[in-house]
Amino acid sequence: MKDIATIQRTKAILERHGFSFKKSLGQNFLIDLNILSKIVGAAELSEVSGVLEIGPGIGSLTEQSAKRAKKVVALEIDQRLLPILDDTMSPYPHVKVIHGDALELDLREIVEQEFLNEGIEDISVVANLPYYVTTPIIMRLLESGVKFRSLVMMIQKEVAERIGAKPGTKAYGSLSIAIQYYAEAEVSFIVPKNVFIPAPNVDSAVITLRMRKEPAVQVKDEAFFFDVARASFAQRRKTILNNLTNYIGKEHKVELERSLHEAGIDPKRRGETLSLEEFARLSDTILPLKN
Ligand code: SAM
Repeated sequence: MKDIATIQRTKAILERHGFSFKKSLGQNFLIDLNILSKIVGAAELSEVSGVLEIGPGIGSLTEQSAKRAKKVVALEIDQRLLPILDDTMSPYPHVKVIHGDALELDLREIVEQEFLNEGIEDISVVANLPYYVTTPIIMRLLESGVKFRSLVMMIQKEVAERIGAKPGTKAYGSLSIAIQYYAEAEVSFIVPKNVFIPAPNVDSAVITLRMRKEPAVQVKDEAFFFDVARASFAQRRKTILNNLTNYIGKEHKVELERSLHEAGIDPKRRGETLSLEEFARLSDTILPLKN
């Protein structure tokens, strides 16, 4: 049988099941085998690998991961896709589909039950993400505490530009900080709109995040470090002192200014010019002001 991600087979599957796309769920299915093999290639899967997929759709990418990995677990929110996946995944008994919202399911527990308990420790995320929830899904994966080896994900090109962005650029923001804290990130390749049905409105890119064994910088309070970074970007045109004053409280403005000097950061700088190391130093210095 032909692979799912050919136009003919995809159309036949959709027709047979009377499936109609839901734009609100970010349903754009891949119909290009070349792109799919580049995605799974970036994940460097082997017969000992476990793959966690968010949003399998009708199983185009799932199938390509299943051909290379020991087990694939796919989380799908749309109930209408479950009988379709039952059908398309029937040649792949080592694929398990779990119905639910990737933003709500307990990822740690799933990884433990489906992979670690079966002796699978080399775990990667391989997914073509629903674009309406790209950032929250990436943040959830990074903060899950699961020791993923890598995350290979198709996302909007515009968001991909933010992952490796350097301080002082427009694309640099709290997403860049979070990703660079947990992972070494790269944009693997750009993907044109015409390899999906229906075609999305924006260009896409595949990113590869190789998870670090230790975070890029050491901080005393991780949650506070991220809060400080987020607060520093709240209003990009404001100085770091003003943004942080809004976050910590006006009554602490004088102490904040002193702490910024102590951390070697000019209070008049904008948040977007601070490096990861500077945010780490800053959040440790002002930790006593945390409310
Ligand atoms: N993997 C398929 C492919 O590449 O052709 C489909 C990718 S499509 C861009 C995104 C998929 O994610 C859809 O199947 C959609 O129903 C599903 N989805 C959307 N929101 C989700 C969520 N919060 N949790 C899990 N799956 C979700």
